[in-house]
Amino acid sequence: MGEFDLIKAYFRRPAQGAGLILGVGDDCALLEPSIGMQLAVTTDTMVSGVHFLPDDDPRDLGHKLVAVNVSDLAAMGARPRWLFLNLTLPAVDDCWLAAFADGLFAQAQRHGAVLAGGDTTRGPLAFGLTAMGELPAGQALRRSGARPGDLVCVSGIPGEAAAGLAHRLGQHLLPEGLAAQALARLHRPEPRVTLGLALRGAATSAIDISDGLAQDLGHILAASGVGATVELARLPSSPVLEALPHAMAWRHQLAGGDDYELLFTLPPEYAGRMADLPGPVTVIGRIDPDPGLRLLAPDGSPFPLAHKGHDHFA
Ligand code: ADP
Ligand code: MG
Repeated sequence: MGEFDLIKAYFRRPAQGAGLILGVGDDCALLEPSIGMQLAVTTDTMVSGVHFLPDDDPRDLGHKLVAVNVSDLAAMGARPRWLFLNLTLPAVDDCWLAAFADGLFAQAQRHGAVLAGGDTTRGPLAFGLTAMGELPAGQALRRSGARPGDLVCVSGIPGEAAAGLAHRLGQHLLPEGLAAQALARLHRPEPRVTLGLALRGAATSAIDISDGLAQDLGHILAASGVGATVELARLPSSPVLEALPHAMAWRHQLAGGDDYELLFTLPPEYAGRMADLPGPVTVIGRIDPDPGLRLLAPDGSPFPLAHKGHDHFA
């Protein structure tokens, strides 16, 4: 099978969706953004041996590639629209490609995005996706708007994906049912698109947690010129995390990464109104005027965190 047959067989599916004038098959896609909307554009790469293992389920890889990019759109409050896939394959493996494409299209459809184009080359297994979304002009959720007194909030349960990875790497073992849940969080994250849309006009800042809660919160603090206090006792927990020693669970929650949950700040008047937001949201701390991130253990003592998250070049 040649390059063009491959594209046609696996990635040229009838793509419907307002705004897609011309999709896969010509030199460029033609897109028509909605009037009054700004485009939010993001790209993420996944490399074999770095972001995934070569024998990972290709359906999960297709899912996760879309999910991690859509998560960036969610963190800006954008509605997902168009995707572009850059695929580098060592060889044509039909079973692998069919499963990868199914995972990718299923996750794209779930969030209302269509595959509008891409590029296909031969080489060591790697893929990248560029995702475009739309939001009303001027309403993007940036990292830079957090103010002293704001509530620091997080969606879902950060740390479960890291528990899944540590289980897989044999660093600790989880009981069978809990392992399945943690591995699902690692391999099939569900980006918080609906929450991101609901936060427009409410949140003062937002980011998605890809590299670790403490490190990603650090990006908000730096961009906003503020600090924060986070109480470990308020971090959302779960049977997966409760099955681990406290210190290990905290490290997964604070520095694990791969969560694709939203971390955001809300003005204090939102306290007590968290249940109005779509999806589980927990207040974990508060923004302070003094720069820096202060982590408080349940007894009120400072919690030392040597490693705050993932950095490819650190
Ligand atoms: P060109 O050589 O002009 O860059 P290509 O042969 O790379 O064109 O691509 C032909 C068409 O197929 C384009 O519309 C491109 O966007 C699309 N395409 C190529 N690879 C992929 C892919 N992996 N997924 C989706 N669309 C793809
Ligand atoms: Mg090309």
